[in-house]
Amino acid sequence: MSGTLNLSAGRSYLAIPGPSVIPDQVLQAMHRPSPNIYAGELVDMTATLIPDLRRVARTKHHAAIYICNGHGAWEAALSNVLQPGDKVLVPSSGRFAIGWSEMAEGLGIDVEVIDFGNHAPWDLARVAERLKADTSHQIKAVLGVHVDTSSSIRNDVPGLRAVLDAEQHPALLMADCIASLGCDRFEMDDWGVDVMVTGSQKGLMVPAGLAFVFFNDKAAAVRAAMPRVSRYWDWTPRANPEEFYQYFGGTAPTHHLYGLRASLDMIHAEGIENVWARHAQLARAIWAACEAWGQDGPMAMNVTDPALRSHAVTALRLGGSRATQLREWLEQTLGLTLGIGLGMAPPRSPEWHGFFRLGHMGHLNGHMVMGLLGGIEAGLRALDIPHGAGALDAAAAVLSEAGQQAS
Ligand SMILES: *Cc1c(COP(=O)(O)O)cnc(C)c1O
Repeated sequence: MSGTLNLSAGRSYLAIPGPSVIPDQVLQAMHRPSPNIYAGELVDMTATLIPDLRRVARTKHHAAIYICNGHGAWEAALSNVLQPGDKVLVPSSGRFAIGWSEMAEGLGIDVEVIDFGNHAPWDLARVAERLKADTSHQIKAVLGVHVDTSSSIRNDVPGLRAVLDAEQHPALLMADCIASLGCDRFEMDDWGVDVMVTGSQKGLMVPAGLAFVFFNDKAAAVRAAMPRVSRYWDWTPRANPEEFYQYFGGTAPTHHLYGLRASLDMIHAEGIENVWARHAQLARAIWAACEAWGQDGPMAMNVTDPALRSHAVTALRLGGSRATQLREWLEQTLGLTLGIGLGMAPPRSPEWHGFFRLGHMGHLNGHMVMGLLGGIEAGLRALDIPHGAGALDAAAAVLSEAGQQAS
């Protein structure tokens, strides 16, 4: 035998927090010739997507589809309800809240960030204090990232609604659910969210390229009072199309729509409550392993309190340049790709190489989680990175709880 032993042939596994693993059903639904975009199957099928998207978002209100990524959804949502000079408040628990606020700044919006750093959720008492001080209601919207994918913190969206209500503040509550929709419980209507944005490539398991903005009647009224909205981002014709092209402001994203149809069928066949429960249990298995590794060595989860952790992404620190070494070893040797760290250190700085993230969103089951964790265990050994024992046992113990009610 010559060269180094390599075990990466076979199906590769992208375990990063978006894009997520694409199910075969979605890939197969997309593998087809271009359909007619004027009449027939595609037109009829697209109308069926809207009610099924609403069911995932837990809303009976309006939905607009865009051909863009999450950044586009950010701009779409802002463009419909905020004018240059309007003020927004952004409680931040990581890089994505900052990203949305930068997008707002680019539109001339006056942004005020309350930065809770990379390790803490929103402090709702501080948000309440700021809203109380805004007696003349200058703040037109509060932008809240539900799960910040950089820190893996899950924020309390209903708690933020309660604060707005307690202060009788009329600002719109706008939520970024790009990392959480179809993974962590989210209830748009019950939680009183006015505008919600999400993308196709995370919990919805479709390639990047579709984004969605959901909005209620209060937000629609704010839109109606706007002096001017970019024709392309305007959600009004998209949510109430008289002609098929109006859903998309032009040519339909034909193949993505077929992929989305397949993914929504999968989600609703499983049941959204079951999808959330699956993500929660698989996340617990991952945390149990990370906890065990961290007992004896440098590995540490970014979020200490499990109640504040996302069920879709876990941010970790290994220190030194060990996270980059681990990622590279796993990809090259085992065909397993982990996520880079985000927002914890300047990109490519020496410290940056000490952080990484695990994506566990969407099309994921128990054996994939054991493969992910087993791969990391092998990588820690191969690279002589100190780590506690028993990680795989701990994860298996969590997974063994599944199916107990059935037997
Ligand atoms: C992925 C993500 C985004 C950005 O989405 P893109 O499709 O990469 O533009 C924004 N917010 C959150 C919370 C995300 O997870």
